[in-house]
Amino acid sequence: MKNWFRRMGERLARMMYGRYGNDALNNCLLIVGMILLLLAYLPHMWICLFFSVALLTWSNVRCFSRNIGKRRKELMRYLSIRNRIKDFFTLRKLMWKDRKTHCYFKCKSCKAVLRVPKGKGEIDVTCRCCHTVTVKKT
Ligand SMILES: [Zn+2]
Repeated sequence: MKNWFRRMGERLARMMYGRYGNDALNNCLLIVGMILLLLAYLPHMWICLFFSVALLTWSNVRCFSRNIGKRRKELMRYLSIRNRIKDFFTLRKLMWKDRKTHCYFKCKSCKAVLRVPKGKGEIDVTCRCCHTVTVKKT
């Protein structure tokens, strides 16, 4: 039995040689596809089955693809979008946590988010990205 598992592992490794494999985008596609598959069991939600099959098929095609460069570009695009969304919510969480002690505002020239302490009166704030000085009342 132990030999059988070893041989199957070797066959699987041989089959996956030169293929892309799994990544974060594939995991996301699988999770969303499985959720849609479960939603398809609800009444009047049959359209979810179509999207579920499409996402699961896309995930498998990516996994067994030999065009590694194209798959990496897709992954980079996905990670860029995911990180932007993640950064947005991280900033909102931080703003909520510091709402009593700090003010947040955007730099007028480069749109970077700046944080200054509250209750200091009128202060000059220098942007750390573009070094623009702004007068702000806190
Ligand atoms: Zn700036």
